[in-house]
Amino acid sequence: MSDNSEVEEEEDEELTPSPPPPLKDFPCGICFEEVKDEDEGILCESGCDKWYHRQCAGMSKNAYDLLTREDSAEWACDTCIKKNNIPMTKMVPIT
Ligand SMILES: [Zn+2]
Ligand SMILES: [Zn+2]
Repeated sequence: MSDNSEVEEEEDEELTPSPPPPLKDFPCGICFEEVKDEDEGILCESGCDKWYHRQCAGMSKNAYDLLTREDSAEWACDTCIKKNNIPMTKMVPIT
């Protein structure tokens, strides 16, 4: 046995990427918890394309019901409203 171990694997901390967080299918853009099927989720269609819990988006149940019932209505999150100066809801023609 030789003591000269030339090939020594050193951990290069700078090059070791931290493990990515477990991917969620539809993480809420506010609380980062997954927006599940059984949750009331809403998609920021006119902006960042992220899902949000209804409650995280501060949306009333009434508004949510209206929006989800209306196929032609697109919703945008607070961030996108401020960033892109777009209306919270946009009516798009159904083709
Ligand atoms: Zn949330
Ligand atoms: Zn958005």
